[in-house]
Amino acid sequence: MAEDYRKMWAGLGLDLEKHDKLLGILGEAYPQFFLSQQNRPEGMEYFDFVISEIHGLRVKELLDHKEKGGKIFGTFCVYVPDEIISALNGIGVGLCAGTDFSIPDAEVDLPRNLCPLIKSFYGFKVGRVCPYFEACDVIIGETTCDGKTKAYEVLGEVHPTFVMEIPHRKNEETMKLWRSEIVKFARYAEELTGEKLTVERLRAGIKLHNEKRRALQRLHQLRRAEPVPVSGKDVLLINQIAFYDDPTRFTGSVNKLADEVEKRVAAGEGVFPNDAVKLITTGTPFAIPNWKLHHVVESAGVAIVGEESCVGSRYFDTLVDDSGETLDELFDALAERSFKIHCACFTPNDARLDDIIKMYRGSGAAGVINYNLSFCTPYLVENYHIEKRLAAEGIPVLTLESDYGMGDVGQLQTRIGAFVESL
Ligand code: SF4
Ligand code: SF4
Repeated sequence: MAEDYRKMWAGLGLDLEKHDKLLGILGEAYPQFFLSQQNRPEGMEYFDFVISEIHGLRVKELLDHKEKGGKIFGTFCVYVPDEIISALNGIGVGLCAGTDFSIPDAEVDLPRNLCPLIKSFYGFKVGRVCPYFEACDVIIGETTCDGKTKAYEVLGEVHPTFVMEIPHRKNEETMKLWRSEIVKFARYAEELTGEKLTVERLRAGIKLHNEKRRALQRLHQLRRAEPVPVSGKDVLLINQIAFYDDPTRFTGSVNKLADEVEKRVAAGEGVFPNDAVKLITTGTPFAIPNWKLHHVVESAGVAIVGEESCVGSRYFDTLVDDSGETLDELFDALAERSFKIHCACFTPNDARLDDIIKMYRGSGAAGVINYNLSFCTPYLVENYHIEKRLAAEGIPVLTLESDYGMGDVGQLQTRIGAFVESL
């Protein structure tokens, strides 16, 4: 990365020494995890470039936007309506929370036996190592799981934070509550940005994000081909970058890659042999740079062809209806789309089980890896239903619990190897 970014990072108040260490770790891991793969599509070059500039170019774009009066919204959940942010000339950034690097700083204030995703994001803030966090005018939190809900109270002491209330059941009453939260957020965002939401602007925001989701749907459909034309690791990376890249540029790059992958499929060209075992995953989100599971699985010659995850299908499977002619109708559409996302924070959550089975049946996978972060109560408890339902459907499933450390890689290799052997 260009040297003059140091001035930018210093201006954001980063701890430069610690930040250098973080970039050093990323700089070592990325070639090993990604660039070492054989026969990657050329279209991956754009995404390699985005990572090579991970704390550089995009952060600069955010700061340039702020300089022109625009606002930056940091988010941690797919329920937060990016469409409203874009409609008000804001930029939404899904903040990363996928490394154990920042956890020791978090554990000064937060309990150790808390989900690593929460500790990771809080540690990024208090450890002053994330330029995205520092560029955000506000963090938009949500009352999904208890850990995040309470962590936003603590975060609110060190960064402006606005929390949306997400109900835990899906019915007519809670739909009204969630819709009113969306409207409340829209009013807050209008005040923060000094912009006014109109039907045209909100519809344009909806179309922008629908296009992004369509491009990801297209790629997701193509990756299931035989032989597998693009690695699961590369698609995971793209799903992660979706949260913070410029939406228009990102959509164009995904579609360009999909064009190339389409040609590969037609030519029967792949990154795994024809008879490679295919798996899908389900579970907690893989926040960047959590690449561990995909790396372990694919290094064993097994292809991952789907993720039932918020960094995966839950992010792009459903679109927002953009046909509404009033703001009220568009707010309805935003709320309705959210309720089609089946996070384990909801009870009951049988629709998620249907989603997993649908993905399994449509992907040609031989089994499911049910991967969850330690101390994530909603997903860990929901494992009971997943295992029971998949067993009833005759679908092989391997349940794993892990964190961001690399200490369990050997154990994961053994368990995944035995699972694949059994298929
Ligand atoms: S898993 Fe639940 S809380 Fe986490 S991003 Fe997805 S919807 Fe939000
Ligand atoms: S992984 Fe689980 S515990 Fe962690 S933030 Fe997401 S829902 Fe909450």
